[in-house]
Amino acid sequence: MLTDTFNRTIEYLRLSVTDRCDLRCTYCLPEGFKDFEEPEHWLSFEEIERVVGAFTRLGVKHVRLTGGEPLLRARLPELAQRLKGLPGLHELSLSTNATQLDKHAAALMQAGVTRINVSLDSLQAERIAQIAGRDVLPKILAGLHAGKKVGFDPIKINMVVMPGINEDEIDAMVAFCITHGFTLRMIETMPMGETGRNAQHLDLQPVKARLREQFGLVEGFFSGSGPARYLQTPDGKFNLGFITPISQHFCETCNRVRLSVDGTLYLCLGQDEKVELRPLLRSGASDQDLADIIQHAMTIKPERHEFREQPAKLVRFMSTTGG
Ligand code: SAM
Repeated sequence: MLTDTFNRTIEYLRLSVTDRCDLRCTYCLPEGFKDFEEPEHWLSFEEIERVVGAFTRLGVKHVRLTGGEPLLRARLPELAQRLKGLPGLHELSLSTNATQLDKHAAALMQAGVTRINVSLDSLQAERIAQIAGRDVLPKILAGLHAGKKVGFDPIKINMVVMPGINEDEIDAMVAFCITHGFTLRMIETMPMGETGRNAQHLDLQPVKARLREQFGLVEGFFSGSGPARYLQTPDGKFNLGFITPISQHFCETCNRVRLSVDGTLYLCLGQDEKVELRPLLRSGASDQDLADIIQHAMTIKPERHEFREQPAKLVRFMSTTGG
């Protein structure tokens, strides 16, 4: 079992399979950004399988494929299938912008991915083009449709809510998710890199209070002990999550670490503590060496992020870490 110095059990690994993305969301990657990891630094499927195997032997039960945009990594379903076969792995999920999900949904489902999170900040094509830098709403909707058709359940929609940008679409997004049976999660913008810092965050606490009242929502429970706190309709059919790193953080229940495409193990989304695993993997380290370094890494996992106290601290973009 992996336990850190604050007595938190780590059983969730977010695995970035690429730092590249086909979108340039204003709060994530700067326009024209090209400073991506060199392909020779990307962990190969064999290396990923080895590291994830080390984690599952240490008690990690859930792996999420993320990025960048994970569907840009060639043969992702093949990697998913290999990981799904690892003993001890209970759940394999995916975070995607869904621009290419219609092509890959069936193969991913077949490979053993069961749950997906899809980023969708607006239901207006022009706005998506402004926020994401490309006119991709129809592609995203096609991806969502394909995901639903092949049976991903739940499908969670992640909406980064920004004042003056898309806050007027909160109700429309709630209605959209109720209609389609999706879970909605609203996210406060995090000051990650200059893009995250330049984007405004909207305090979601008043939004939560208003929606609770308006839709008669009650406290909800939702599996996956993540940072989202949920409300739900009394019949339990619609779940509404709030990821509020700025107005109310939940670091005390943090159960995760992140592995970037170049084999860097980040211990906290909002701090710099990290351990490089690639040199070890490429210099003949044994499985025991890997297990030892992963266990050691737990001793430097920070207690919490400081997005609120030190918003200028983190120069890394979300897509570099594996959001
Ligand atoms: N491309 C995939 C996707 O769209 O889900 C996975 C990676 S993306 C970086 C993961 C999530 O991080 C997305 O929902 C995105 O909106 C969110 N994100 C990126 N930068 C952020 C920031 N500064 N604050 C809050 N959320 C951010």
